[in-house]
Amino acid sequence: MLTPGATIGILGGGQLARMLALAGARLGLKSHVFSPGEREPAYDVCAARTIADYANEAALARFADAVDVITYEFENVPAACADFLNARKPVRPGPKILAATQDRLIEKQFVQSLGIETAAFADAPNPGALARAVAKLGRPSILKTRRLGYDGKGQIMLQAGTDLSVAFRSTGGAPAILESVVPFTKELSVVAARGLGGEFRAYDVCENVHERHILATTIAPASIRPATAAQAVEIARKIGEAADYVGVFAVELFLVEEDGERLVVNEIAPRVHNSGHWTLDGAVTSQFEQHIRAVAGWPLGSTRRHGRALMRNLIGEDVEQWRELLTQEGACLHLYGKTEARPGRKMGHVNFVSEED
Ligand code: AMP
Repeated sequence: MLTPGATIGILGGGQLARMLALAGARLGLKSHVFSPGEREPAYDVCAARTIADYANEAALARFADAVDVITYEFENVPAACADFLNARKPVRPGPKILAATQDRLIEKQFVQSLGIETAAFADAPNPGALARAVAKLGRPSILKTRRLGYDGKGQIMLQAGTDLSVAFRSTGGAPAILESVVPFTKELSVVAARGLGGEFRAYDVCENVHERHILATTIAPASIRPATAAQAVEIARKIGEAADYVGVFAVELFLVEEDGERLVVNEIAPRVHNSGHWTLDGAVTSQFEQHIRAVAGWPLGSTRRHGRALMRNLIGEDVEQWRELLTQEGACLHLYGKTEARPGRKMGHVNFVSEED
């Protein structure tokens, strides 16, 4: 168990690392951010930084010496980096969940092995296998690279006329999987945490709306049946247990409404998640504080909501609304300190919490 004054090492220097470092500081913990980026949102708010590549073992060894525990803000931490660090200081969440979430094929097999539904899928390591996968799953279906896809990158919808070899090349020609299209009515997520001793806490299930594959808004709680919400939390609990997870994670789900409500897991994020940003103003313990508590070996905090919460991402030039948002009653503004508002770039978010439930 860490004590106040200890240092948390964070791999990655984006907004998630920034909000983790801020939450740690409030609890008297220091953050040391490791990132290859020269200018990163987290550098403004951390006690120490290392600017180096994730393959730089000398820099990684110095970083490990300087911190008490290591966590990360993104799931694509190279396995060699996580293993190197884990031999020196505890890396939480551990390497097992990284291996499972870095590869869509392994992730889906892991989820299905727990008796939890995913989209039907087939391995498509090359164009020949893709043709066989299409024969099995039909069209439309979605081709996704196994590794390094996010916010809709590395994926393409296969329609009736799509040329398979062109499609395979268009996602980079890397090993992929084919997924059937889930006829969902809503996209949901559960943000949950598991402590060092196995304690489990989940926030209320939330409902997410994406625009151009990027999360636009989150509403908590989702308007779904109580039994469906309980099932979503149970799914998260099972995943957390099976992975022997420590920290905050998110499970992204599709809600299918055919003869009632059914949940299908889309993916697992082994980190704090954009759909949990509402907890900064809308819950007793924010997801960032919860993650810090978990990796520090501290008791988890209450996940109780203060009211009905809405989070809106400020993407690209949306951030220019900051002045107006400051004058809006009840708007809780969070800006990430990024200077350049490129299209699609997450610049900040705004939370609204209303008293009625
Ligand atoms: P992903 O990168 O896997 O999270 O996918 C990005 C978005 O594409 C999701 O949030 C969904 O809106 C959509 N999507 C992904 N997979 C499927 C699927 N199997 N069926 C329907 N929509 C999907």
